Amino acid sequence: MSQPATKETYGFQAEVKQLMHLMIHSLYGNKEIFLRELISNASDAADKLKFESLRDPNLMVEDTELKVWVDFDKDARTIIIRDNGIGMTEEEVIQNLGTIAKSGTREFLQKLTGDQAKDARLIGQFGVGFYSAFIVADKVIVRTRLAGSDPSSGVEWVSNGEGEYTIEKITKDTRGTEIILHLRPEEDEFLNAWRLKHIITKYSDHITLPIIMKKETMEEMKSDKDAKEVTETKAVVEEEVVNRATALWTLPKNDITDEQYKELYKHVAHDFEDPLSWSHNKVEGKLEYTSVLYIPARAPFDLWHMGKARGLKLYVQRVFIMDDAEQFLPHYLRFVRGIIDSNDLPLNISREILQNNRTIESIRAALVKRILSMLEQLASDEKEKYAKFWKEFGQALKEGPAEDFANKEQIAKLLRFASTHKNTELQDVSLEEYVARLIPGQNKIYFVTAETFNAAKNSPHLEIFRKKGIEVLLLTDRIDEWLTSHLTEFQGKSFQSVARGGLDLGELEDKASDEKHKEVEGDFDETLKKIKEVLGDRIKDVRLSRRLIDSPTCVVIDENDMTTQMERMMRAAGQHVPKHKPILEVNPDHSMIIRLKTETDKAHFADWIEVLFDQAVLAEGGQLDDPASFVKRLNALLLTH
Ligand code: ADP
Repeated sequence: MSQPATKETYGFQAEVKQLMHLMIHSLYGNKEIFLRELISNASDAADKLKFESLRDPNLMVEDTELKVWVDFDKDARTIIIRDNGIGMTEEEVIQNLGTIAKSGTREFLQKLTGDQAKDARLIGQFGVGFYSAFIVADKVIVRTRLAGSDPSSGVEWVSNGEGEYTIEKITKDTRGTEIILHLRPEEDEFLNAWRLKHIITKYSDHITLPIIMKKETMEEMKSDKDAKEVTETKAVVEEEVVNRATALWTLPKNDITDEQYKELYKHVAHDFEDPLSWSHNKVEGKLEYTSVLYIPARAPFDLWHMGKARGLKLYVQRVFIMDDAEQFLPHYLRFVRGIIDSNDLPLNISREILQNNRTIESIRAALVKRILSMLEQLASDEKEKYAKFWKEFGQALKEGPAEDFANKEQIAKLLRFASTHKNTELQDVSLEEYVARLIPGQNKIYFVTAETFNAAKNSPHLEIFRKKGIEVLLLTDRIDEWLTSHLTEFQGKSFQSVARGGLDLGELEDKASDEKHKEVEGDFDETLKKIKEVLGDRIKDVRLSRRLIDSPTCVVIDENDMTTQMERMMRAAGQHVPKHKPILEVNPDHSMIIRLKTETDKAHFADWIEVLFDQAVLAEGGQLDDPASFVKRLNALLLTH
């Protein structure tokens, strides 16, 4: 008899094919993780059902004990992972096991290099999940049924991982999901109870759901045969829980090993690598909650994606409520992962309620303090780890002073910068160190912002600071403009851009040069007037400089104007900002300027000024309105010498 045509074939989304291929090839050295991933999914499915059943207790009636079973069949060469969790509908199966919904998947795939070790790490950051089954299996069958639905609405998904899968409606007596892995020929090592148990305790001990395996024991049976007592041994199959199956965070810290903390992290963060650091706290008193907070070692590939949900895994009285509860963390700490288990929140809490909830605000404030002190400790006790942290997440932390006014000073202590003290691109100077190095008379924290490190390091604005031995912070991250407009002082010292306003070095100014400056001022009146005539309304003003030593000119931003970088940032964000007019400063000690003072040829003078102005704009990382004319003029001037 021919079967009714209920089986349909679908193609995987291109990204899935690519990911599977990569996974099979680059994660081969770590293939046992497939079990962790599938158990982790089963555990999530149980959590989801428990949560749904708060609303509809009927969902659980047929079977109230949530579990996951791991089984194998030596003859059929299969491993079976079965759960009685939420299950999936047909549409969900197609969506979840045929596509990747994550934003940024394409960018992620483009970053892959073909270098196995590197790609394995990247895939780890991306999260491996269900598709990792194909590392060890050349055929995977998923049989699933949504909790609360009719047995006839089961679905069977079958694939050999090579581009296509089939979907068929089936009758499934039990709710939940069963995954059958047909192992590749060389994977027999997994058809072994001891091996599977070992993997489970290694990776999944922290899973709160009982993980059940079969255990064969030999039992002696006494019987009477022909009036004679005979002892026979018989194999009896029992079920055995192979993991600890308690919420790890409810245990005392001393009972938890580092390995277990790390595995909990990997489950929660879907990360592959160990975290840099963690902190486990039980809070009792007015509010009662337990948190386990982790600082990852590496930024996930989508950390900088706008709108990407981040946050903690929320439990209420041990019941999983939701992933990515972002209300518990401010945006600048969105890289922190972990769990929070509260005794004060209602079990039926929704995302909407989370938004304006006093309890959550208090918990969040306490968590922020906890995270900042965790970072402080890392910075003081484990400098290398902190450097790693800074490289990955420093830019996020720089958003802190603008977002979190209350903790501004504490965040400021955690910031790291490049500076003229070391002159390397490495951001490892703290503000405390900077302040400790202030020279006598210095009461400001000086900084320069630029597009690149070299532009910052070689900025003409630094000349006077170099000469006087004053350290200047070299800021080249996009976020720095934002940071310095919100962090205006540290330990009573105000921040001052070296490219802004009239340079007032206060007590740092030495008397002799000040007097000399005043002396020559009058001598240049005429020249400055002529310069202004040439440049017209392209500049706000022209004046003699106190900050230049080696360069003839530089452009300065007026005290209240936006910097070039800020303008660029705002434009990139789609805002219309008028271009600011700079102030041109000229160096009265520079031989070129001294020569210009006596230049009588008007056209020649104008050419010089045009070139010097354009040079100053270029040195600032700015763009010329008319680069071709600049080149032409410069060449003409070069020829006359
Ligand atoms: P992730 O778990 O990171 O979301 P996966 O590729 O592992 O990614 O799984 C994709 C989705 O498939 C899951 O988010 C979940 O909705 C669904 N899924 C996977 N395994 C199960 C399961 N055992 N029970 C119910 N749903 C599952």
